[in-house]
Order: sequence, then C-alpha cells, then structure tokens
Amino acid sequence: MDISDKATEREEQDRDIALHQRKPEGPAATGQCLYCEDPLPPGKRWCCTACRDDWEFIQK
Ligand SMILES: [Zn+2]
Repeated sequence: MDISDKATEREEQDRDIALHQRKPEGPAATGQCLYCEDPLPPGKRWCCTACRDDWEFIQK
C-alpha cells in the first residue's frame, strides 16, 4: 500500500524542481556564461559556480 507514499514523493520532487527553477532575481540566460562568456547550453547562465560567485560579487 504505497500509492500515497509515491504521490507524496512525487509532490516533493515537483516542489524541489519548482524551487530550483525559481530565480527571484538576475538576468536571463544568454547562451554564454555571464562572467567569462564561455558558450553554454540553453538555460544556463554560468559555466561553473565560481563564475556565478564572481559575477554575484561584481554586481554589488
Ligand atoms: Zn564562466
């Protein structure tokens, strides 16, 4: 009897995805790393966390 458990698990996954997709601030993805301008797949804004951190740093 794990149908409800599976449903709960699915809801939690959906919520995780929604949280990760929600970007409260910042620019749209351009196809390039916003910091070092390396080409990136669609939807990515930085090539690595170091670029993201540096970009965030220079925004301030
Ligand atoms: Zn980069």
